[in-house]
Amino acid sequence: MYDHLKTYFGYDAFRPLQEEIILNVLEKRNTLVLMPTGGGKSLCFQLPALMFEGLTLVISPLIALMKDQVDTLRANGINAAYLNSSLDSGEIEDIQAEALSGELKILYIAPERMARVEFMLFLRRLKVSLIAVDEAHCISEWGHDFRPEYRNLNALRQTFPHVPCMALTATATMRVREDILRQLNMPDAPVFLSSHNRPNLHYTVKPKLQSTKQLLALLKEHKGESVIIYCFSRKDTESLTDDLNHAGFRAAPYHAGLSGELRSRTQERFIRDQVSIIVATIAFGMGIDKPDVRLVVHMDLPKTVEGYYQETGRAGRDSLPSDCVLFYSYGDKRKQDFFINQIEDESEKALAEKKLAQVVEYSELRSCRRKFLLEYFGEPVEMENCGTCDNCSATPTETHDATEIAQKILSTVLRTGERFGLAYICDVLRGSKQKRVLENHHENLSVYGVAKNIPLQQLREYVDLLLLKNYLTKQPGEYPTIGVSNLGKSALRDRESIFLPKPKSFTESIQKEKQVEDVAYEAALFEQLRDLRRSIAEEQNVPPFVIFGDKTLQEMAYYLPQTLGALGNIFGVGERKRKQFGTQFLTVIQVYTKTHGLVERITEDHDIPQQKIDRATTSGSTFQKTKELLEKKFSVAQIAKERNIAESTVVQHVLKLVEENPDLDISHLKPAADRFAVIQKAFQSSPTKLLTAVFNILEGKFTYEELRIARLFLS
Ligand code: ADP
Ligand code: ZN
Repeated sequence: MYDHLKTYFGYDAFRPLQEEIILNVLEKRNTLVLMPTGGGKSLCFQLPALMFEGLTLVISPLIALMKDQVDTLRANGINAAYLNSSLDSGEIEDIQAEALSGELKILYIAPERMARVEFMLFLRRLKVSLIAVDEAHCISEWGHDFRPEYRNLNALRQTFPHVPCMALTATATMRVREDILRQLNMPDAPVFLSSHNRPNLHYTVKPKLQSTKQLLALLKEHKGESVIIYCFSRKDTESLTDDLNHAGFRAAPYHAGLSGELRSRTQERFIRDQVSIIVATIAFGMGIDKPDVRLVVHMDLPKTVEGYYQETGRAGRDSLPSDCVLFYSYGDKRKQDFFINQIEDESEKALAEKKLAQVVEYSELRSCRRKFLLEYFGEPVEMENCGTCDNCSATPTETHDATEIAQKILSTVLRTGERFGLAYICDVLRGSKQKRVLENHHENLSVYGVAKNIPLQQLREYVDLLLLKNYLTKQPGEYPTIGVSNLGKSALRDRESIFLPKPKSFTESIQKEKQVEDVAYEAALFEQLRDLRRSIAEEQNVPPFVIFGDKTLQEMAYYLPQTLGALGNIFGVGERKRKQFGTQFLTVIQVYTKTHGLVERITEDHDIPQQKIDRATTSGSTFQKTKELLEKKFSVAQIAKERNIAESTVVQHVLKLVEENPDLDISHLKPAADRFAVIQKAFQSSPTKLLTAVFNILEGKFTYEELRIARLFLS
């Protein structure tokens, strides 16, 4: 298995559950696989397909995806083909002949084919060793994407009762799961359920202030990378696209109002890296399988947490770090309320309200966003700090003296009788003329309008902070009311100073642009390799990621392999691709290495270099500064804070410093004993010593940084 994994796919380790699933299939047992998008489902049937004697049939509903998948397989030297309505009869005959001759290993088919008798007769003549049903939730009427053609699969199962069947999906509730098992007549098949966690996705919510300006700043950090931006309306997508193009980005709009032809052309250009930003309504996404989307932005509030999770899930399928940013303003909720109020069916309306309230809760959350998302999907989560959402990775925000505003809020809650919710309290504080306020005669209170000049969003944040710090309490229920705790009462009575973190909507506007990081892979070389990849892809008429993924190019730009042998050690470089493209990539690397006076780095360990390095900014002094702080026994986090650089950069420094001065005392960096024990065990149990493998064994519970440091202490 490991041989095939490296030779055909160029990978050194399995992702979580892949190995278990494949072993199960090789035993010729039926299986149901539930894995999040990007989890690596395809490999679960592609690898067994190579190991079985006959042919593997793959049922897939998305014609556009079939071609990409088949192109990718062929580029890896695997004999695959597809049959769907995009082919003419001559092409179909050729492929059928190839399948009958036994040369084909994998055949993708569209489910509607199976409604034809002559097609079923053709299938009967094949030696089928595995049936894989992709997007299996389409078989269920209870799912969100029911496709009647999928019911034809009953017939397929009856035709091949003894052939193992594997169903795969990213989204399936309990009900859909049971439905899949029943429809495919495999009631006892084991279900492999992998975590919804996507450790490489970084979740952030930003207060929406001047959203276009904020967006431009964000896009600058992702210049040249693939980005999807979701907007509320078609009109917004059009006008935002214009703004972006004026600002020098390559963007295209995508929504249901455009012709089908234009939409598929836009998709195609996106997949081929000819346009880097898609500005879309939620119509965009189904059928997009681009592995290297680095940023997904929501300019407006999503309608449901499920939808949000699915849309952000389109980022970082290749497991490289990617960002999911939501711009939130409470005003947007009111915008959505307007549409919800137009729903006539009462129960449907109530459901929509509830779903929206959950999205608001997510947006206003002060604790770990990942934990919220996972718990939303019913996954128990123990960790409190994931390290990779804005709330967990924020350096503790500065506190400031908020006594005045806090007193105003506490008094308002008391004087209105502790009977109202957040929105109402803010209305009174801001002197709103809302009917309800006037009916209660609250315009006569002395606190009415005392916070007139504080933006609503900021005020809401202050209330949240007072809740968080237990000055206020919240009575749960459908309309939660806010009260003042004993702590709050005594603070008010004794005129105590109240210190609170600065609200985000306050700090955001004055935040500096993110600093460009130094060190790791050669950014300029990476760009050259991307160019080469694009021109080969154009020549061969396939999407660029079919040639090599970003991670592969980044590793090349880090390890700088000088021989075909060394190139073969790079992630994602299998036998076939090495033979086919190796020399071309090698030449670019060699020239770059030489002109910059660099040398090859040894690939015995597959660290993933995840930061760019710009030649110009690497200087000796930055290492020296880190070294001085290390000698003062600063921790990695402290150094990062002190120097205002990323922890990962500090770790890069540490590794380099230790390499050059083996006597440097870094014993204070050793992880705590219990954590270290877990990491040590993972290294021991890992089939390879590659960091990615260990990272996966630990299911992303430890950061690469911690693993890199810990490895220094393994004997
Ligand atoms: P899914 O169908 O679950 O959304 P894919 O099968 O498309 O996910 O896989 C997502 C990405 O992960 C692809 O780029 C694939 O090549 C990559 N991948 C799959 N398995 C591995 C592995 N064991 N090691 C590294 N990358 C992998
Ligand atoms: Zn978190």
